[in-house]
Amino acid sequence: MIESIEVLKRLQSLKTKINELKKDQERRKQDVQKKKTQIEDKGALAVKRREEKLSIQKEIDSKELDMKSDEGEITKYNVQLNSIKTNKEYTALCTEIGSKKADMSILEDEILNFMTRLESVNEEYKKLQEDLRREEESLKDLIESVNADVKETDIEIEKTQHDQKKYIDALDENSLNHYNRLSNIKGGKAVVAVLGNVCGGCSMNITAQTLNLLMGGNKLVFCQSCSRILYLEENKGSEAGKMAAS
Ligand SMILES: [Zn+2]
Repeated sequence: MIESIEVLKRLQSLKTKINELKKDQERRKQDVQKKKTQIEDKGALAVKRREEKLSIQKEIDSKELDMKSDEGEITKYNVQLNSIKTNKEYTALCTEIGSKKADMSILEDEILNFMTRLESVNEEYKKLQEDLRREEESLKDLIESVNADVKETDIEIEKTQHDQKKYIDALDENSLNHYNRLSNIKGGKAVVAVLGNVCGGCSMNITAQTLNLLMGGNKLVFCQSCSRILYLEENKGSEAGKMAAS
């Protein structure tokens, strides 16, 4: 039975290794997912900027039309000035022309402001597009490298599972059943070392009787607190022995 514990320890370490390899694969796949989400967010921002550009351009176009119409009005008024009869009419028309010119000046300022904004949005949009192109390239590289890693890890997992099977075949049914049951309920930690008379699983002190059973070494010994399968660390064995004897 002392051999069983060695086999169980190996079995457990192989299971831990497989779990870690699978977690590694998951992490790598999440890296790809994270990158994809980043690119999607940036793409959405680029779309927003493009829409903003279009809407600013529309504002500019509409204000330029208003300017043209004001310009037309002023030309019309200037023609009318030539056929004016009274001073009062003349003054009224001049006031009208002055007010149109003031409108045009405001429109001009507004157009300039919109143009400045358009320029900065355009710059941001261009930069986003460049970033996107670059990031899509790097995503391609990332996917390639992750796929290669996952494939390699798959091979390692398969190899480890093969080793696992060898140890399972070497175990008696009773030990295997105990191990499987405990491994499932104890999160893969079914076999634990006893260090300084303390269970490595639950940190409770083991009883003198349990220690004696462990020293005897001819059958599986379970922690009385957490039910895990126990073994004595080799270098701690003499120390434990002394304590059991005293
Ligand atoms: Zn315990």
